[in-house]
Amino acid sequence: MITVFDDMQRLHNPSSFLVAGKSQPMPERPERIDMLLEGVRRAGGRLVAPKPIGNETLSLVHDARYLAFMDTLWERWHRQPDAAEYPAPNIHALGRSSLAPVGYPDSVVGQVGYHVGDGSCPFMDKTWDAARASAATAAHAARLMLQGERFVYALCRPPGHHAASDVAAGFCYINNSALAAEILHRAGKRVAILDIDVHHGNGTEAIFYDRADILTVSIHADPKRFYPFFWGYAEETGRGAGEGYNLNLPLPRGTAIDDYRCALAKALRRVGDFAPEILVVAAGLDIAVDDPFKGFAIATDDFTTIGGDIADLKLPLLVVQEGGYPSPSLGASLVALLEGLRS
Ligand SMILES: [Zn+2]
Repeated sequence: MITVFDDMQRLHNPSSFLVAGKSQPMPERPERIDMLLEGVRRAGGRLVAPKPIGNETLSLVHDARYLAFMDTLWERWHRQPDAAEYPAPNIHALGRSSLAPVGYPDSVVGQVGYHVGDGSCPFMDKTWDAARASAATAAHAARLMLQGERFVYALCRPPGHHAASDVAAGFCYINNSALAAEILHRAGKRVAILDIDVHHGNGTEAIFYDRADILTVSIHADPKRFYPFFWGYAEETGRGAGEGYNLNLPLPRGTAIDDYRCALAKALRRVGDFAPEILVVAAGLDIAVDDPFKGFAIATDDFTTIGGDIADLKLPLLVVQEGGYPSPSLGASLVALLEGLRS
């Protein structure tokens, strides 16, 4: 099993993020990598490193203004006297893109308010380098699929599925799954994305919301009481040409494997109807019962069942790591999922 991984991903090492207005210890930290690599080793993975990628590749799914902002953020933020250690918004560009146009400021404080969606994406001096390495990992995996591989695991960290074309949010800076899908699409492949992370993949949804050529399907905890709160509802089915090409399957907190499999069957039927040539699996392991986010109650062995159901589609699979946070079972959940997906 080819596993793409770049050690530069370790450079992003934040200590905290905001929960209920309070600074809390950050679960999206480099030790995740060691837990996941241990799973890869047990699954018999062979590591390959990606080549760095430039903004021309990132701009396949990200706005040029956003990339310019991220390239210069750390240096510009710290040119301000008395700025906080991490750039953080104290204003948000409400109403952008949907209700009315908003202006785009030159001020870095204003731009942080424009491009940073929430208090869950701390930005340090090497954050952007780590995010780029994570994106390069997904892009390299996509190229391997184009060379004829039928199964590649992209160990991407930081994750990506909450990042929209011009917004960082929820530990995510670059949308790795969307980038991989778009690279495959540009090469002429019909692609669907199945997001099994416990959180709705709102960034991925946003990037493809108006399009019929890439199907997006997400199974996740009901946003009525779970991050990202404003997206992930069943009514979000796509817009314009994209109508009918986004499927959200929200489930109650605490959902266990039987009810999960019913939703998964619906998801896989939709994917089957779309008839992709390659399926991108946005693989969040935070559906595990002992994940610190406590969204679902999926046991370690259940991951093999879930992987097996997906494998029954008999499609080439590009598996992109999304969430899944330090817990005793994190590595074992990955081993079990990979085993099922390769069955
Ligand atoms: Zn998640």
